[in-house]
Amino acid sequence: MNSNDVIVSVFKKISVFKNIETLYPEYIPENLPRREIQLRQLAEIFKPMMISPGGVFVRTMIVGGVGVGKTAMAKVFGREIRKFASERGFDLRYVHINCHRDRTLYEVVSEIIRQIGAPIPIRGLSPREMMLALLNYIEKHDIYLLVTLDEFDYFISTEGNDAVYFLIRVYDEYSDTKKRINYIFISRNISSLSKLDPTTESYILRHMVKLDPYTSGELFDILSYRRDLAFYEGTIDDELLKFIADSKGVDKGGEGNARSALEALLLAGQAADHEGVQKVTIEHVRKALGIVHSEIVRISDDINFLQLHELLLLKAIIRSLKKKKTVFVKIGEVEDEYSYICQLFGVKPRRHTQVYEYVNTLKHMGIIEAKVSSKGFRGRTTLISIAVPLNELEMKVDEAINTKKELADTS
Ligand code: ADP
Ligand code: MG
Repeated sequence: MNSNDVIVSVFKKISVFKNIETLYPEYIPENLPRREIQLRQLAEIFKPMMISPGGVFVRTMIVGGVGVGKTAMAKVFGREIRKFASERGFDLRYVHINCHRDRTLYEVVSEIIRQIGAPIPIRGLSPREMMLALLNYIEKHDIYLLVTLDEFDYFISTEGNDAVYFLIRVYDEYSDTKKRINYIFISRNISSLSKLDPTTESYILRHMVKLDPYTSGELFDILSYRRDLAFYEGTIDDELLKFIADSKGVDKGGEGNARSALEALLLAGQAADHEGVQKVTIEHVRKALGIVHSEIVRISDDINFLQLHELLLLKAIIRSLKKKKTVFVKIGEVEDEYSYICQLFGVKPRRHTQVYEYVNTLKHMGIIEAKVSSKGFRGRTTLISIAVPLNELEMKVDEAINTKKELADTS
């Protein structure tokens, strides 16, 4: 083939995908098959807010394991009730906050302000002052909010009872005002709530929507809905979807995690594209299922919310572990590697105490393990380890770093 043919064949290459982006994790589908009952529950819970806005303060918890559709469900619900409200002639805004990214009370409140576009100069304000300004603003403009605090367990464990109390009891001081801020709290399990004092806990647990892991039958319906959005007709058969569903369904010994099922679907399609064939085969699916490591799927969702330096440190940990080929590496070794990586990326390394903070964050999120060594010759040191396959993890980390770098470079 001449050069032109080579290049054009790449550009014109047929793909099994008609809309590959509908399989990306951030895509919010129009429908959520097999979650009708839970959506109905949510609607029942928020009905009073829709019928007489401002009359009641509504909050609920959504609980379930990884990949069961918690985030997707909250966002779909938010989108729909916003439409409904505007048909009814009132201004309801949906705000989605991921507590892995916005970790402090300060960040949460300023993010609410940012997402609704309120022109409040937050610099120098305390969370309480920002909250007051926010309440004033939404009162003045007659706005209602539904705020979702996703990965709320993380907020509870880092910010503690007082911060949670602050958020949910905002109306206690002003009993006669309209209740304009309502909440959905999302958590992987309710045991994290035991860190709260009983009044706060019962206040949050007023309502709960529980999402169980998906069965293979449910996963099949989800996969086939998402397949129809993403693939050209006839490029991947039902039989293959069933194969994925059976390998992930909770009733077949899987985790019931839709995210890993969808990732397998995406990878299988990409494998077919890679070979330049027009149909996905069982071999592509087998290969895809081999790559999708369930722990990495869990972690990769969290990785997207890390800050640049946390990612660089994570990369340093991965590289140190790969070099040393040991179960644990010492924090000192990791810091050397981290400085080196920072140099490669042309950024200034953060100080030692800050690096310790990052280690704690990564540990807290369950991405790394860290422990203090028993007292040895040169005193104690922190030892760090990672339980998932390092190559796959490093690929995810690199992707996230590149996205962060691009954002930083273009802004
Ligand atoms: P969680 O927040 O519980 O970890 P997500 O809401 O991120 O899970 O869901 C994981 C992936 O599976 C997302 O891509 C989501 O769009 C998809 N998904 C989950 N449940 C459904 C469903 N019932 N129908 C269609 N897609 C779903
Ligand atoms: Mg989620």
